[in-house]
Amino acid sequence: MAHINCPKCGKEVGIKEEGCPKCNDPFMSNSCGASNTTIIIVIAIVVIIGLIALTCAGL
Ligand SMILES: [Zn+2]
Repeated sequence: MAHINCPKCGKEVGIKEEGCPKCNDPFMSNSCGASNTTIIIVIAIVVIIGLIALTCAGL
């Protein structure tokens, strides 16, 4: 059975578990463990920096 690490406490938990038995964090059950929120934040930062760069270049 595959395991993932709890994003909060790092404990190995079976991917079929609904949450971490140690800290009760109800993490998402996607096996990759990557959070979409992190990806969205990174994209937002890149877009903001791009807009600032364009604004400065335009002036
Ligand atoms: Zn945990």
